[in-house]
Amino acid sequence: MTIEHHPGDELLLAYGAGTLDEATSLLVATHLALCPRCRRRLDLAESIGGEWMNRTRANGTVDETGIDSAMAFAPEDDEPAGPATAGSGPFLFPQPLRGYAGGDAADLGWRAVGGGIRQVRLKTRGKGAKARLLSIAAGTRVPEHSHGGEELTLVLAGSLYDRGKWYRRGDVDAADASVVHRPAAGPEQDCICLAAADARLKFSGVIPRLLQPLHGF
Ligand SMILES: [Zn+2]
Repeated sequence: MTIEHHPGDELLLAYGAGTLDEATSLLVATHLALCPRCRRRLDLAESIGGEWMNRTRANGTVDETGIDSAMAFAPEDDEPAGPATAGSGPFLFPQPLRGYAGGDAADLGWRAVGGGIRQVRLKTRGKGAKARLLSIAAGTRVPEHSHGGEELTLVLAGSLYDRGKWYRRGDVDAADASVVHRPAAGPEQDCICLAAADARLKFSGVIPRLLQPLHGF
């Protein structure tokens, strides 16, 4: 199985810099556990980050193209994600999600929220997005909705159809505040996903600040 939908580079960089709220960080970290491609991109970004900052300081200007051009050469190919692709049993929740949700989805205190959807809120600290697990019955459409801020959804089991695309285990579906959508679970099995939603830091144009904590500036 190949992961097709990844978090954006700015989200990866913000994760690496430690500037994300806990719920969003948990979602990105869980994706990274399943995605060798994003682990490589994050490693590359962190390794070039120091050199890029030094060049920026030497020039006396902020060079925001440096990261983009370097990232353009980052490998795009995927590797098999190993037994975690099973998407059930003890492999459903990879670390670090297992630390929040335990090892077995059946043991969670799922609460029905109507329309074939169940959820479990996960405990996270601080302000920003809230994390929850959703279980959407096979073939069920979520009621149309939009968001106060960006909503990130990571599929863990089954599949999710949203705005013309299919999302499967490891895929991240990102919907910003302008999106009104009706995602639907695929017909083969209940779709279990991790969602992080609500107000979150905005990243546009702040890559230098994102990299600061990595390099002690
Ligand atoms: Zn990825």
